[in-house]
Amino acid sequence: MTTPTQATQRRGLMLVLSSPSGAGKTTISRALLEADAQIAMSVSVTTRAPRPGEVDGRDYHFVSVERFQDMIEGCQLLEHARVFDNYYGTPRGPVNDVLSGGRDVLFDIDWQGTQQMAQNARDDLVSIFILPPSVEELERRLKARAQDSAEVVAKRMAKASDEISHWAEYDYIVVNRDIEASVASVRAILDAERLRRFRQVGLIDFVKRLRRE
Ligand code: 5GP
Repeated sequence: MTTPTQATQRRGLMLVLSSPSGAGKTTISRALLEADAQIAMSVSVTTRAPRPGEVDGRDYHFVSVERFQDMIEGCQLLEHARVFDNYYGTPRGPVNDVLSGGRDVLFDIDWQGTQQMAQNARDDLVSIFILPPSVEELERRLKARAQDSAEVVAKRMAKASDEISHWAEYDYIVVNRDIEASVASVRAILDAERLRRFRQVGLIDFVKRLRRE
């Protein structure tokens, strides 16, 4: 006999969070992951050097350009892009494992990666763009990080405008004025998207039984 829990099993979704650096995306991602065991973070591969405090395998898989090229050629990346002067990509295998287990995957990727995912898996994709509340606040947050050199900060400010220009390609927009409110908004989006009819596997049979058909 199928229990109601099985009847409402669902297909995992791919939740993309994009924003310019410094808009608060990393903080929102961490809060989501801590509160919900049904969602797993996709750990990207990158050719950039680790920043102080970053851990290989947790924040990124740090790889050489050669290794990155091999992964592209071996079709091991779901999407990949050049961001600033480095390459970033999403390993395909772990994402498939999480989705096939009925859990969701969270991605911190840029607009280029989001476009590729939309082309390959539109039905499974839910995309959210996080906007900073003002340009002054964005600059303040980038400087407060103090992990990057002044030159890198300036470059990122210039790039932020580029990244923001893609806001209209996203399903949802969250303006991050207050971190707790933004986390609550992202949670609400996730909760609603999980309930979309086509994501609830087994609903047809469940309803048949409800109607004693
Ligand atoms: P950062 O170097 O600050 O960690 O990341 C720089 C940018 O690269 C961010 O906008 C981040 O979202 C993006 N990024 C990180 N991983 C990936 C990835 O796997 N694919 C793509 N397309 N972008 C990524």
